[in-house]
Amino acid sequence: MNFKIPFSGRGHAYVESEIEAVIEAMHAPLSLTQSKYKDEFEKSFSDYAGSKYSFTVNTATSALELSAQICQFKNDDEVIIPSHTYTSSAYPFLKAGAKIVWADIDLQTRVVTKETIEACLTKNTRAIVVPHLYGFGAQIDEIVELVEGMNIVVVEDAAQSLGVRLDTRMTGTFADFGVFSFHSHKNMTTLGEGGMITTNDSKYKELIPMLRHNGHCGFNFERENYWQPAMGNVDLPILDNEPIMPSNYCLGEVECAIGIELLKRIDQLNDQKRERAIYFIDAMQDFDQLEFHRVDNDRHNYHLLVAMDKSGKRDSFIRKMAFDERIQCVVQYYPLNRYDLYQKLGYGEANCPNADRFFDNMISFPFQHMLTDSELDQIIDSTKRVLKSL
Ligand SMILES: *Cc1c(COP(=O)(O)O)cnc(C)c1O
Repeated sequence: MNFKIPFSGRGHAYVESEIEAVIEAMHAPLSLTQSKYKDEFEKSFSDYAGSKYSFTVNTATSALELSAQICQFKNDDEVIIPSHTYTSSAYPFLKAGAKIVWADIDLQTRVVTKETIEACLTKNTRAIVVPHLYGFGAQIDEIVELVEGMNIVVVEDAAQSLGVRLDTRMTGTFADFGVFSFHSHKNMTTLGEGGMITTNDSKYKELIPMLRHNGHCGFNFERENYWQPAMGNVDLPILDNEPIMPSNYCLGEVECAIGIELLKRIDQLNDQKRERAIYFIDAMQDFDQLEFHRVDNDRHNYHLLVAMDKSGKRDSFIRKMAFDERIQCVVQYYPLNRYDLYQKLGYGEANCPNADRFFDNMISFPFQHMLTDSELDQIIDSTKRVLKSL
């Protein structure tokens, strides 16, 4: 279909200084991976987010794979994950041997809460994944406090919440691990793919780089000749006396170079999106069929702009928006338990009424940063026209 305003797969445009940074990295007479831009991006990211350690990876999914492996699941170990999230919040934990327990979301905030997590805790709980979905910071401080001393690994899926703060602290820095995405759709993108895993625990400082890069590490002795016995060593990564197999999840230098530049204006990108979201939500005040989540501070970056339709006419709304107005609204986050993959593995049942109700009635508006002011006004006008006509 030929949409006037599509739901774009592209989050934002680049400015000249970002394009120049790419060209400079292309010309630099250095390796195109694992070199100075990586070091600088990781350092800038730690400074920005306030995390002790930050490690670049090729995708947020790889960061989730790493955190899942590090959990070292055994026997009947369980991981609590909301059914309302992107699939890669979940399946890496299945691969690593955990059993999934689906948690519900809160209907107003559309993320898990301390209560919905608490309802899923059992003596077998070994990990919890908390996605800050849509760019809203979930109650991660309370969730971390809830499970303190219980030997449970908490992973913050901050793929959508870069720059989001609870009070002054950044999401992705509260739990054992923070996971970030620089995929094309996201708040900032390192040329289509990219990610970061953060931690404050020095225990993972050497381990994560080895797991990320094929087990590569230095030799633990002085070499007389730099080429003997070989260029570098490969060792078996060990955590708590148990081995973990490595992978190659490295991010290239050009991607890191643009990441360094984008961090300089991510707050601005987020502020601009939030301002627009509030403008949009306030323009809809007289239409109470649509329920938005209005947060006028940096606990929400409005990665996505979503509403719940309370009139039961969601599909007619999207159809009219598409065919009469040529504006592409979509429905997101199919409850994971409804996907074939999870059903075939025995995770087809979930007791998550809010997640089901929200999904069955939700609308996600086109909300890429690249929208012009005039396009935003067109979406608002069309939305009002369609709502009146229903
Ligand atoms: C995008 C996203 C991911 C995956 O990110 P990639 O970088 O594409 O692997 C994981 N979790 C959530 C909540 C996401 O939105």
